[in-house]
Amino acid sequence: MARRVSLPSRGGVVVAFPGLKPATRDVRAPLAIVASNDAAGGVGARERSGPRRASPGTAASRAGDAAPERRDPGALRIGGLTPFSSTDFPGKLAAVLFLQGCPWRCGYCHNPHLRENEGTVRHDYAAFVGWLATRAGLLDAVVFSGGEPTAQAALPEAMRQIRARGFAIGLHTGGSYPRRLAEVLPLVDWVGLDVKAPMGGYGAVTGVTGSGIAANASVRLVVGSGVAHEVRTTVHFDLTPSDAMIALADELAAIGVGRWILQPFRPTGCADERLIAAAPRGARIDEGLLARLRERVPGVEVRG
Ligand code: SF4
Repeated sequence: MARRVSLPSRGGVVVAFPGLKPATRDVRAPLAIVASNDAAGGVGARERSGPRRASPGTAASRAGDAAPERRDPGALRIGGLTPFSSTDFPGKLAAVLFLQGCPWRCGYCHNPHLRENEGTVRHDYAAFVGWLATRAGLLDAVVFSGGEPTAQAALPEAMRQIRARGFAIGLHTGGSYPRRLAEVLPLVDWVGLDVKAPMGGYGAVTGVTGSGIAANASVRLVVGSGVAHEVRTTVHFDLTPSDAMIALADELAAIGVGRWILQPFRPTGCADERLIAAAPRGARIDEGLLARLRERVPGVEVRG
């Protein structure tokens, strides 16, 4: 999950959705956050490796051990929303909720304000549901994005409620909490799964030693679930050099991934100066590497 977000400061005020102006296709309302492009069984997320500089949150929150236990949807911590998107759920018009909290600290993250469990902006879930009722017939789906939406214990019940109101459910996840992912997959119609590196190389991207264990388990869950999905990887050759991409292709092929979206790193919105300096005009993926990747995963596509 790594597309740019613009976030008006609201000083912790709960924002009421009935104030939203009627949305029209692809027009972002004033409260909109521009979507990402991206407890519960977190595995190996107990130690951060390397010198990454982002605020780490608590050790427990990184591990998921102290994720909020309230499971009622009213506890959902919503850091932003896009009222109307045609790009976050293939073939569907969707509202996108951006949930607070992520245990990882990817250098290329475009939504760092969503990584902490508590953000400065918070939208009220009940108000959102009330607003959503006015969108019946205009919207097909609600996408849960982040941050890492599976970090929140209230996610499954929120999905159940919104699904019961006739909306399809989309999920953007990095797979850091496979137990919660397994819980919500039966409630989900489409998953956008960010896969960051081969399992052994995750720490270099996420800043969390061992995070690849959870991620690998999540890829297996999604692929084995039969739920429609898209596997995608942001490519920056400081983080995922060619040998790492080949290793990742081998892992994905072994799991049964047949289509794989590669998103070259873009410096816009990235806060990591080292990554920007290494690719000031963005990353490029050469044809020779693409050919080698396609030998392993035939459906490799480059996006952006
Ligand atoms: S996994 Fe977390 S830190 Fe990494 S890009 Fe997504 S939201 Fe940002």
